[in-house]
Amino acid sequence: MHEYSIARELIDTLTDQVDEDRLTRTKKIHLELGELRVISKEALSQAFKIVTEDTILNGAELEFEEASLVARCQECGFEGEVNYDDDLSLHFSVPVLSCPDCGSSVDIVRGNELSVKSLTVEDSDSDD
Ligand SMILES: [Zn+2]
Repeated sequence: MHEYSIARELIDTLTDQVDEDRLTRTKKIHLELGELRVISKEALSQAFKIVTEDTILNGAELEFEEASLVARCQECGFEGEVNYDDDLSLHFSVPVLSCPDCGSSVDIVRGNELSVKSLTVEDSDSDD
């Protein structure tokens, strides 16, 4: 149950960094999901819903924004997206972690993240 531990981590991060009043009014949590994170969005949303049921985040939904992989070549300085291999056994394209220009190994600049980008918070009725 990989997604459950991710959901709990997410809640820990949010309760650490955002004040309670704001979290109570949070409707949507916008996440940036790197391409290299192999996560089922459906499973994570479902897990998040269950784990938040008895918390102040009850009712908040996850929204995903995909961040494509960016790599940097150590040899020629190329920076950008890499090529993809269609791996039929995995049923999806796998990024090739070598430079499209010179074939050297690349560093991953972006693609591993699962981070909170922003929150959609309901306006508080402050007509007092
Ligand atoms: Zn290169």
